[in-house]
Amino acid sequence: MMLKVENLTVEIEGKKVLKDFSLEIPEGEVHAIMGPNGSGKSTLSKVIAGHPSYEVLSGKVLFKKEFDEIDLLELEPHERSLNGIFLAYQYPVEIPGVSNLEFLRESFNNHCKFQGAEPMEEKDFESLAFEHIDSVALSPQFLYRGLNEGFSGGEKKRNEILQMLLLNPSFSIMDETDSGLDIDSLKVVANCLNKMRASEKSFLLITHYKRLLDFVKPDKIHVLKDGVIVKSGGPELADELESKGYDWV
Ligand code: ADP
Ligand code: MG
Repeated sequence: MMLKVENLTVEIEGKKVLKDFSLEIPEGEVHAIMGPNGSGKSTLSKVIAGHPSYEVLSGKVLFKKEFDEIDLLELEPHERSLNGIFLAYQYPVEIPGVSNLEFLRESFNNHCKFQGAEPMEEKDFESLAFEHIDSVALSPQFLYRGLNEGFSGGEKKRNEILQMLLLNPSFSIMDETDSGLDIDSLKVVANCLNKMRASEKSFLLITHYKRLLDFVKPDKIHVLKDGVIVKSGGPELADELESKGYDWV
């Protein structure tokens, strides 16, 4: 198993958002979580990534590390990232004054260091970033702007994918990365996911729309409602949800 979430109960501001939540994602599989607004989807992604505002009352989040398993909840957020967890945010933050290229190089080199590799020189990293920025269909000029500064919604999402391509994580969570994307951007994102998927990486796609799942066919779909998974099934579940909504589940 790449990821095993076991009996996770999570609270924020005195409200239980995830309730005895369990989920297993094998290596190389893509799972999707769908569900109404406020059901706890972003909470799940942030707890896995290590957002400090959420209180974990019980449960474990086990992550495969070579022949071992580590409990992510015992690691700091940056350590989770170094160990191969990536979260593409539903609302990527703008950090004016921090160059996108510098930001990407900094996180890339931190990962290199963690893996015992030499950090990459400025010029070499720039070439690498040039290669990858092409796959997300952004112009290289975006590397020289402030991080997400003035980027459109779709450009921010594609910049998240650029970061994912560079860091090459084993497990990535996409929190509504497809929301607000036009069809061309959606295809760009889907192509990147499919390319990475081929190499035993696992993904959790949080989405409201079947159209992403038409391009990146998930192995399983789970429906989250009020903090619990109320239904799981194959990709055909997306069709059913699209025509009947969440109420029938
Ligand atoms: P989803 O992503 O499925 O739409 P979220 O995980 O964002 O849902 O939110 C689940 C519930 O937790 C919602 O009722 C939301 O209002 C609440 N919640 C999330 N973050 C906070 C917060 N920082 N303070 C108070 N309530 C929160
Ligand atoms: Mg959300």
